[in-house]
Amino acid sequence: MTNQNVVTHEVINTLIAVAASISNSTVLPGATVPESMAVLGRFWGLPNKNIVKRLEGAKVSAWIDSMRASSPTRAKSESQEKRSWILCHPSALNTFEKITYSSKGKQIVVFLDYDGTLSPIVADPDKAFMTRKMRATLKGIARHFPTAIVTGRCRDKVYNFVKLAELYYAGSHGMDIKGPTKSQSPKQGNTNNNNNNNNNKGVLFQPASQFLPMIDEVYKILLEKTKSVPGAKVENNKFCLSVHFRCVDEKSWAALGEKVRLVLNDYPQLRLTQGRKVLEIRPTIKWDKGKALEFLLASFGYENSNDVFPIYIGDDRTDEDAFKVLRSKGQGIGILVSRVAKETDASYTLQDPSEVEQFLRRLVEWKRSSTVTPTSV
Ligand SMILES: [Mg+2]
Repeated sequence: MTNQNVVTHEVINTLIAVAASISNSTVLPGATVPESMAVLGRFWGLPNKNIVKRLEGAKVSAWIDSMRASSPTRAKSESQEKRSWILCHPSALNTFEKITYSSKGKQIVVFLDYDGTLSPIVADPDKAFMTRKMRATLKGIARHFPTAIVTGRCRDKVYNFVKLAELYYAGSHGMDIKGPTKSQSPKQGNTNNNNNNNNNKGVLFQPASQFLPMIDEVYKILLEKTKSVPGAKVENNKFCLSVHFRCVDEKSWAALGEKVRLVLNDYPQLRLTQGRKVLEIRPTIKWDKGKALEFLLASFGYENSNDVFPIYIGDDRTDEDAFKVLRSKGQGIGILVSRVAKETDASYTLQDPSEVEQFLRRLVEWKRSSTVTPTSV
């Protein structure tokens, strides 16, 4: 190795450290470690190919660190940090009256993530069942409000968990949207007027259908490449893939992340994002849960409307795209499900799926008690 290479190597290491320290700081707000590195590298005039090689590795490390930080097993007890976080993101149960007051005169529309929101995070993702109580409450919610499940899971799989035909389902991070297969109650409000989509029984939108063969191919490769890591699980969500870390020893997380990254090197049309104990692989198209929320609001007839109050409840980083949309529109509320303090664009919090169930049940009771017509009770 030449002196120049050694110097460049050391500089890049320093660059990674500096990028990690300023990532998400006020210096480069919202920047990931690799993005910060790219900016700093250009500023220092470093050869781009050296940075790119190290950049992907740094990205995986940053994801793994972030996954560790957001892991519930690392929940801190009531700390000062948590208390000040709760002040900024109060419990949606404690502020229920304030929330319903804000919705006055508007149509509430409910958007719900599945894993960690309606069902607990369990070791085997195929057994992430929701409780009977949750299903009954969800049925009540769908009776009164347009309701959509927005999940990273395959739409058919999440439907088999929820089993309510009256809901909208946006699977694969919103890349597979389907309307209800059972007609909705007229109590739901004005969802059947305006420009509501009449083709509710069919698929409404699949923006990534051309990626299906590639997703299947990568799924098979990942199954093969990750089988040597005990506990690793690859899930085919039709338009995207999930590599689950839930049952993998934390010591092997970095190695598993690296295996996934190496596979993805050959597929620049696919991108990797990090969720809660999961790495997600999806097409590079500009589509996410936030776009799905906007699409569904338009389908319900509320595009550019002020008469709607969307409530989006989710626990994951991928739900932040939807929280951001609501925050930028100044419309409705985002509720983050979390026991630990996290950076979020949601306004309110709930601790776990049982609190989500309580919140939804109160929403049903409030709607019933505030509805004028006696036949609607
Ligand atoms: Mg989730």
